Amino acid sequence: MSIRENIQQVRENIAAAALSAGRRPEDITLVGASKMNDAAACREAIAAGIDALGENRVQEMTQKLAENAYDGAPLHFIGHLQRNKVKQVVGKVALIESVGSYELLEDIEKLGIVQPILLEVNVGGEEAKSGFAVSEVRAAAERAKSLSHVVLRGLMTIPPVAEGEHGSVPYFEKVHALYVDINASLYDNKLDILSMGMSGDYEDAVRCGATMVR
Ligand SMILES: *Cc1c(COP(=O)(O)O)cnc(C)c1O
Repeated sequence: MSIRENIQQVRENIAAAALSAGRRPEDITLVGASKMNDAAACREAIAAGIDALGENRVQEMTQKLAENAYDGAPLHFIGHLQRNKVKQVVGKVALIESVGSYELLEDIEKLGIVQPILLEVNVGGEEAKSGFAVSEVRAAAERAKSLSHVVLRGLMTIPPVAEGEHGSVPYFEKVHALYVDINASLYDNKLDILSMGMSGDYEDAVRCGATMVR
C-alpha cells in the first residue's frame, strides 16, 4: 500500500470508529509517526493530507528539519525527551506530546518560549516507561497551569502492550476519565487533546474518546 492509500484507509477506519461511538470523524487528528521514514516519505504523507507528523528522536528530527521534511504540516515531538535535549525541541515543534516529569516542565518554562505540551501518563505504572503516574497527573496539571510558558493542551498515553484484542480499552478508559476530570475541574474545559491509540489499537482509542491518534 502506498502512503496515500494507507492514510486513506486509516481515515476510513477512524471515521467508522468515531461514528459508532456517536462522535464526529473530523474531531480526530491523525499524527503520522514518521520515525525511520526519510524526508521524501514525510513530504508524501503531508501531500496526502496527514494532519501532523510526530518524531521520537531529537537527532533524526533535527536532521529532517534541516531538509525541510515537515513543511506544510505541524510537527510533534512524541518520544522520550532527555533533559539535555529540551533546548533542541522547544520552539521547534507545534506540540511536545511527551512531557512526563516535573523536571521537564521546569526546563521548558526556563527557556522562556511559549510551548504547547501534553502530559504523558504512564497508565500501566510500568518501570521502564516514562510519564506521570496516574496519581500524579492532577498535581502536574496544576503545576503546568502555573507556568507562563507552558501551554497545557491535554494528555497523552502509551498503554502496556495489549493482552489480546481490545486489551488497551481499560487503560484508555482510565486516561479518558482522568482527562475529563482535570479538564472540568482545573481547565474550564479548555483542554482539547487526548492523544492515545497507535497502529494496533487506534479504533478502540477513538471509541474511548481520543481526539488524536498516532
Ligand atoms: C512510533 C510511535 C507511534 C506509532 O507506532 P506504530 O507502532 O507505528 O503504531 C505512536 N506513538 C509513539 C510515541 C511512537 O513512538
